[in-house]
Amino acid sequence: MSITSFVGDTSKLKALVGIRARLILLGLILVVPMMLDRVRLLEESRKQQVIVADNELTELARHTAATQRETILTVQAVLKSSALLYGSASTAAQGCTAMRAGMRYDLPWIRSISVVNNAGTVTCSTAESIAGLDLSDRSYISRAKNARAFVISDYVFSRAANLPTLMAALPAVSTATGERSVLIAAIDLKWMSELMRRRSQRPGLSALMVDADGVVLATSRQQDMSLIGHPLKEPRLLATVSNHEIDTEKDSGSLLFHSEEGRRLDVTFARVGGTSARMIVTIDEAEMLGDIDHSIRTAYAQLGLLVLFALLGGWLVGERLIIRPISIITDVAERFGHGDLSAPDSDLRLPPEFQPLATAFGRMATQLRERERELVATNERLRVIASVDMISGLANRRGLQNRLEFEWRKAEQTGGPVSLIMIDIDHFKLFNDTYGHLEGDRCLRQVGEALARIAGEVSGFAARFGGEEFCLLLPKTDGIAAMEIGEQVRAAVESLEIPHSMSAFQVVTISAGMAAVAPGEASSVQELIEAADAALYAAKHRGRNTVAAHALVRREGSGFSLAS
Ligand code: GH3
Ligand code: MG
Ligand code: MG
Repeated sequence: MSITSFVGDTSKLKALVGIRARLILLGLILVVPMMLDRVRLLEESRKQQVIVADNELTELARHTAATQRETILTVQAVLKSSALLYGSASTAAQGCTAMRAGMRYDLPWIRSISVVNNAGTVTCSTAESIAGLDLSDRSYISRAKNARAFVISDYVFSRAANLPTLMAALPAVSTATGERSVLIAAIDLKWMSELMRRRSQRPGLSALMVDADGVVLATSRQQDMSLIGHPLKEPRLLATVSNHEIDTEKDSGSLLFHSEEGRRLDVTFARVGGTSARMIVTIDEAEMLGDIDHSIRTAYAQLGLLVLFALLGGWLVGERLIIRPISIITDVAERFGHGDLSAPDSDLRLPPEFQPLATAFGRMATQLRERERELVATNERLRVIASVDMISGLANRRGLQNRLEFEWRKAEQTGGPVSLIMIDIDHFKLFNDTYGHLEGDRCLRQVGEALARIAGEVSGFAARFGGEEFCLLLPKTDGIAAMEIGEQVRAAVESLEIPHSMSAFQVVTISAGMAAVAPGEASSVQELIEAADAALYAAKHRGRNTVAAHALVRREGSGFSLAS
């Protein structure tokens, strides 16, 4: 769209951006920054939660490794004290009794303590069933003998207890007999799992203790208990951890691992001190983030609802506080536009901000009503003025025309006669020339007054037809009566005795032409006027100061002269 056409379309744009849209815009301007801030906080919180989970993971790996280390240290301590009890006795049998009697510790992860002689046979044990077992093939026993130190086995399956077990071995020499033997302790892996489970409750988190071959020794998850004694489900995991150890030259650390199923695992590992076992703690990113994302999604949904309610509330409040009052006032203005000037209802229940506007409308209505009344009165006055002659005070030609038409219609209904006398001042031009126009006007006024008086007496209607011509309309008057009235007028003007030196009569006189008709006999008002005018012409012709009648008059032995 070009700039000019866009500018040309601003009116359309303005129409679109109505007050409701503006209110929504206002609402959004208020709500959006708040919303963006909240979104920023939520994203921040998400990052924080991920960091917390990662820290928790590292802490868990370290702590669990430390716990297992402590567990093994207690085993070492117990084996040492047992070796002391066993070795300080004078005979093997006494040593065995002393060792078994000394086994009073409440350490549930030590299942049994046994003595293995040089030939690899169990000669003494805190667990009856183990005595006599041949363990000469167990590598941890030979490792302990060779190293002359405390060793921990990799995963073994206990022959005696038929349970997955970790073995601790400590070489001992009897001080009395000089006989060499190895004391062994069977460590309960289920107990180790239990210790780990107590600390790792986060969803998606799994803590495993594996031996050097990657066999699972303990697990924090109940559902993974069946993995104990079996290699890791992800064989690459151990290799990845080992490589990481070599690369970083550290026996603990963190890395990201992609499982064969395509899962991303955050891995933290740590060696269990003094053993070849490792703690490997993994957390499934999807599961962990799923939890965090769920809480974030809930927060977003709450935020969305809040915004929706805020906008809806703003809309309703705007509708009630702004739109409704505006439409009420628009209605009032439209009423005024259609001419209904009644004052607006006093109980419009408008907000206070709109009250002055309503009051102004009320005042405007009152003023408009007042003006309208004045206008009607002025119009009426103008209408009257327009029908009145200013010099004579009689009706003018327009007034005569209206009255004539009115009387004509009335006569048509009743069938009565109508007469019209046309009156003209004789030699008026000469009068003006002799006495001046002002005197001429005075003469016109006097003639008018005389005519008005007679019209009043005979219920006629007098008018100034124009110039120095007058008319006398006589409703319900036939020609004979009209001729008499005409004569009355002629005599009245003559008797005014207005001096007129240029007239043969030496006073102002008039000539009159009369026409009378019963409506229906003449086709129009115009015809009646023309007939009266023709009669006037005849009167002039006959020497002036006389009254003539037109042939339209129905004669019944009248003595008046006729126009034709
Ligand atoms: P006639 O007897 O044949 O009627 O002769 P006339 O002189 O009366 O007739 P004419 O038509 O020749 O002259 C009429 C005169 O009336 C001319 C004009 O100056 C005068 N007149 C018309 N209106 C007025 C008016 O309002 N005031 C005055 N003073 N004179 C007027
Ligand atoms: Mg004339
Ligand atoms: Mg005249």
